[in-house]
Amino acid sequence: MGAGQPMVIVTGGSRGIGAATARLAARRGYAVCINYYRNREAAEGVVAEITANGGQARALAADVASETDVQALFEQAEEALGPVAALVNNAGVLEQQCRVENIDAARLTRILATNVTGAFLCCREAVRRMSTRHGGQGGAIVNVSSAASRLGAAGEYVDYAASKGAMDTLTIGLSREVAGEGIRVNAVRPAFIYTDMHADGGEPGRVDRLKASLPMQRGGQPEEVASAIVWLLSDEASYATGSFIELAGGR
Ligand code: NAP
Repeated sequence: MGAGQPMVIVTGGSRGIGAATARLAARRGYAVCINYYRNREAAEGVVAEITANGGQARALAADVASETDVQALFEQAEEALGPVAALVNNAGVLEQQCRVENIDAARLTRILATNVTGAFLCCREAVRRMSTRHGGQGGAIVNVSSAASRLGAAGEYVDYAASKGAMDTLTIGLSREVAGEGIRVNAVRPAFIYTDMHADGGEPGRVDRLKASLPMQRGGQPEEVASAIVWLLSDEASYATGSFIELAGGR
């Protein structure tokens, strides 16, 4: 593949759902900017896989919670891979499972900085470049929210669930704000997906503990989330904006 491929930025593309999305987007003809935070080796591994298969990709470090990092990410991505046509706001964090009565302000600040401020800043940079209002060509944004925004994550991480609630509201509001400017904004709400994230909550085996309680009686794979994300990015979803796809095994 050569120049002229549409470019997608996938935040948190080094592992899990983000890496699966990066791989699938590359197979569908996107040049992929794989943003990562700390895990350079994993991000470069995804880039190597994509380029070995004839695709175009670049790994770029940035903390999505940092305004200067996000600005630099978009500038460097466009320099390396061309104008941004799509954004997947996938970077997200949670912390050790606990009850609300044990959450302190520092933890709340960390969760909201990455999951909410990060998503807003990346949307801002994308809109500034993609909106026809600013001379752009239009584009698509997919926010990776969570079923936690509907379920609440009681006893586990209500702070994280609330951050995803904010992301849902961002999806609705921004979708309406830019619908007439060539930009579609949608979200996916996964849950119980086999990734490293559950280890950060202190329970690596969480999906297996809960799977029997799900209507489908199994956990999900990152690739099953990636399919929905890449569909929402594509022209096949041309009339969808402000919408949510539930990927939670029926929960
Ligand atoms: P994961 O395996 O823990 O991967 C998280 C990714 O986010 C990594 O690539 C990490 O980069 C990146 N990241 C973390 N903090 C960042 C920051 N400040 N700036 C930039 N990148 C950052 O997680 P996952 O399970 O694939 O989750 C991806 C998204 O899906 C998250 O938004 C999560 O909330 C959502 N989700 C997941 C599930 C699930 O069951 N797994 C369910 C619902 C929603 P490094 O590798 O460099 O650390």
